[in-house]
Amino acid sequence: MIKDVVCTFCGNACDDIEFEGDYGRNLCPVGEAKFARKERIKTPMINGKEVSYDEAIEKAAEILKSSKRPLLYGWSSTVNEAIRLGVIIAEKLGGIYDQCSSVCHAPTTLAMIEQGIVGGTLGQAKNRADVVVFWGCNPVEAHPRHPTRYSVMARGFLTRGRSDRRVIVVDVRKTPTAYLATDFYMIKPNSDFAIFTALRSIVNGHEEAVPDRVGGLKKEELIELAKTLESAKYGLVFFGLGVTHTRGHERNVEAVIKLVQDLNKKTRYILQPMRGHFNVVGSGEVPAWEVGFEYAIDFSRGYARFSPGEFTAVEALIRGDCDAAMIVASDPVAHFPKKAVERLKKIPVIQIDPHPNLTTKIADVVIPTAIVGIEAEGTIYRMDGVPLRVKKIKDTNYPTDVEIMEKLLEKIVR
Ligand code: SF4
Repeated sequence: MIKDVVCTFCGNACDDIEFEGDYGRNLCPVGEAKFARKERIKTPMINGKEVSYDEAIEKAAEILKSSKRPLLYGWSSTVNEAIRLGVIIAEKLGGIYDQCSSVCHAPTTLAMIEQGIVGGTLGQAKNRADVVVFWGCNPVEAHPRHPTRYSVMARGFLTRGRSDRRVIVVDVRKTPTAYLATDFYMIKPNSDFAIFTALRSIVNGHEEAVPDRVGGLKKEELIELAKTLESAKYGLVFFGLGVTHTRGHERNVEAVIKLVQDLNKKTRYILQPMRGHFNVVGSGEVPAWEVGFEYAIDFSRGYARFSPGEFTAVEALIRGDCDAAMIVASDPVAHFPKKAVERLKKIPVIQIDPHPNLTTKIADVVIPTAIVGIEAEGTIYRMDGVPLRVKKIKDTNYPTDVEIMEKLLEKIVR
């Protein structure tokens, strides 16, 4: 029995998994699927032809060194040690470092730069929170153990679980999470900013400034919601892409940060973005402590510059700024817009990943690696920024992402 294994799938990074042979206790169905996945990239390849690791790494280094401005993208499903080396490689090459947040929680980063964040940990959600809000997120489907382990039903030092909590869900449709709610508010799409602003007016004692209806909610409902928020001894607002990727983007996040700041004048509140991949936080934290920025980082002038919309992967590809790409632990072909994918098809692409995906089909060089959290250990950041050590529970002949990055760096600086 191997205890305290960290599940390396979603941002919950549940660290109470127990393995007996291939059976993992405490995994949710999504985590089970990750640990049971058998489909692998079997050998390194150059243009679809099987080659040795040395040949593939040599070819990858050659592509990167001859590129004027390579894009190094992905990183949210690997360990911090590999990400750190990736940032150094991007700097040495004068390339662009970007990560999966640039197509999900980047507005949260921008809003935090403007406003800061009243943050906390999932431990506070479990042990203290008596009012929990899920705004534009659906943990029942995206982070399946979140409600039982950290939020809705979790028992903590000062909470006895569901009976001690008021659970509020605000969304544009009745999601499975809404069925767990004490109060569900169905709002109109793209109205988050207006509703946050109306709630701030009520919390700050300016009810008269709020019109009769905002974003599909009656004024009475807004007052009721504001009063529930204020009634918390310890409140917590979780928000997801329903806030970051609707009209307003980072302005929505700034508005919810300000709402939580206002609530803190009356009681105690924290705010937590619901992050997707198990180390998407690390793919921002590591470059932040290496070079000062989280994503969209360009090194072409010999120092780090941050400019979202300019150095974010999609925009840099669409403009044709990058003449090679290295994709680590990600699948941009499945997620990027068509024009960005078309550009990827035209330039040399190196893929470093344990599993085949759509990016494998267009990659010139494919380097398979050990699966983080199963065959490779390392450090990750959970969605609340708490660092965790992920374990290796099986031996493998595949090299780790860190080993591949070390070899690439050695060849690049040679
Ligand atoms: S909730 Fe996420 S981290 Fe926890 S077991 Fe499920 S997939 Fe893994």
